[in-house]
Amino acid sequence: MISALTRLNLMCNMTTLTISSALLRRFALIALLTMTSALHAATSAPERAAIEDRFKWDLGKMYASPEKWDEHYKQISSLVAEFAARKGTVGESPKSLLAALQLRDQVNIQLEKLYSWAAMKRDEDMRVPATQALYQRAQTLAVKWDEDSSWFQPELLRIPEDRLRGWLEGADLKVYRHYFDDLLRSRTHILSAREEELLAMAGKATEAPGDAFGLLSNTELRWRSVKDPQGRDIEITTSSHSQAMQSKDRRYRRDAFLALHGSFLDVKSTLAATLAGSMQKDWFYSKARGYPTSLHRALDAENLPAGVYDNLVRTVTGHAALLQRYVALKKRVLKLDQVHFYDLYVNLVDVPERDYPFEEGRELVLNGVKAFGEDYVAVMKQAFDSRWIDVYENKGKRSGAYNMGTYLSAPYVLLNYKGKFHDVSTVAHELGHATQSWFAARNQPPIYSGYPMFTAEVASTAAEIVFKRSMLERTRDPKERAFLLNQMLEDMRGTIFRQTQFAEFDRAAHTLAEKGEPMTADVLMKLCHEQYVRYYGPDFVIDPELDVECLRIPHYYRGYYVYRYADSYCAAAAIAKRILGNEPGAREQWMKFLKTGNSMYAIDMLKVAGADMTTPKPIEDAMALFDQLLKELEELLKT
Ligand SMILES: [Zn+2]
Repeated sequence: MISALTRLNLMCNMTTLTISSALLRRFALIALLTMTSALHAATSAPERAAIEDRFKWDLGKMYASPEKWDEHYKQISSLVAEFAARKGTVGESPKSLLAALQLRDQVNIQLEKLYSWAAMKRDEDMRVPATQALYQRAQTLAVKWDEDSSWFQPELLRIPEDRLRGWLEGADLKVYRHYFDDLLRSRTHILSAREEELLAMAGKATEAPGDAFGLLSNTELRWRSVKDPQGRDIEITTSSHSQAMQSKDRRYRRDAFLALHGSFLDVKSTLAATLAGSMQKDWFYSKARGYPTSLHRALDAENLPAGVYDNLVRTVTGHAALLQRYVALKKRVLKLDQVHFYDLYVNLVDVPERDYPFEEGRELVLNGVKAFGEDYVAVMKQAFDSRWIDVYENKGKRSGAYNMGTYLSAPYVLLNYKGKFHDVSTVAHELGHATQSWFAARNQPPIYSGYPMFTAEVASTAAEIVFKRSMLERTRDPKERAFLLNQMLEDMRGTIFRQTQFAEFDRAAHTLAEKGEPMTADVLMKLCHEQYVRYYGPDFVIDPELDVECLRIPHYYRGYYVYRYADSYCAAAAIAKRILGNEPGAREQWMKFLKTGNSMYAIDMLKVAGADMTTPKPIEDAMALFDQLLKELEELLKT
């Protein structure tokens, strides 16, 4: 169930999002949708009925009516019951094993369709109680399926390994080999029944630090208000702070920065305690399952070698000089005496932002990804022509953007297209996801029709990079070129440098927990301070308030998460480089990667596409790209 639903990609803005599609599992998905249910389009948007059909996705291809959905719901419910009745019989023979696996695949893909349709219908207009109710029914059925099938994997693991491997030689079961390989790999870390029961019993208690952080940082913290450039009072929360950081008004940026970090400083000791508790939790489970560190456990979840983490941190910190050159450029161009955190997000180039009507955006994206080849472009074209995309915002529509691909349907895309350059890039990004969903589902059996979490942002980011490079190539106006270069450098600063900095902090904090050393606010904030010194260099002033940043990042509660952002971007940049450079075989390998689904381990899949993440090469290439883009921007902004 869980693996089948990892193809649902929600909200992919890697630099701002708290829950990314990369790690999206069903429960995270449910949590995200619940959490953001209030975030729908502003009242100034038109009603959905006023929007032309050709700009709305055609979900009627999935179910002609809610009645049809309801019929399917009943069928799946009986399949769930049929599966539950097989408990205790799966290991009897190869035949009973195959039948159970196939039935489970069926429930997964059918339920995925049922669930996705309900979620998408609900997102069309979140004010409609009838679709809310359908969505809740789908959610309840998904939870029931998870509970009613929880016996399955333990039962598989009780089949003696020799016997199982023998069965897998048979023609019918052969296809499941990789699935079992992955399952059996974990065997050494599975404990006795009583020990497993104890770990499960500890679950609720060990989630408490993360829950407490969530409540505090989302609701109970005392936010401060500041005057915006128009003199209005604005409450500075994490999200209004992000917006304020891009304001041209420096006084407003500074006030917003001080307000946000001040709110977190008020409760710094509490935050240090919740973060320490979460790190202790990771270490508790790692130790209990026989891993030498929490990092080993995190990487083992996807069979990743330790080098993946080390290569990233070592290579990026080795290139901190590039980031510092970028900071120096900001200082010069913005004519600042000193660069503070609140100066980092301002665009260096003042161009009146132009509008891209959707039709033009479509042509730019289709032209922009030509380098990936005809088969690839044909799928993207189909997305536009066959109404896979829900383009504009309307009253009550869910905000943001996502791709939701299922085995039994087209990969639909939700947008809130407003015609800015950022919106066109989002089209490329989400269609990058959709294309992978399409090729994986059409070339793999149900069991492998998703893709590994470690690779989930690679296809989307590669599409976005190739698109932006093509925009750069066709733009002659120096100011517009500078604008695009600035955008790409900001993508890389936010995704590679910033996330690697967080990744380093993640490891330092986990190590403190593993060594049993104190994790007070002062200790953690000192770590954060020292990192800013190393990363941002002499032109950057570290306001004392900035040190509390490490205590406000929600990703640290997700057990080694942030490094994936940086690694994905580097892998995507490496792939884009090969394709744009017309390297022999690059395009064919890329298509092979898209068609692999999750029939391979992530690291092998990326090797197929030409990004060997066991070596520092892709990270070095990304650093070289940053250098190249920065050089051109420095040149353009010389006067
Ligand atoms: Zn994404």
